[in-house]
Amino acid sequence: MEIRKCKNKKCQRTLPKGYKHNYCENCRNERIKQIKDAGKAIAGVAAFVGGTALTILTKGKFNTKE
Ligand SMILES: [Zn+2]
Repeated sequence: MEIRKCKNKKCQRTLPKGYKHNYCENCRNERIKQIKDAGKAIAGVAAFVGGTALTILTKGKFNTKE
């Protein structure tokens, strides 16, 4: 009989029998929340960087034309 525990060292909750994940429900929710937040942050940065790059590119084009 194997007793599996949540992989989160701060948590160490015993996982239910037949549980398919390495983290308990609570930690999984926390992780999903973090990933979502990180995703939002990355999307924001990407939009910002993309916009800046576009501005630079456009400026560069205009400069070479002039
Ligand atoms: Zn956990």
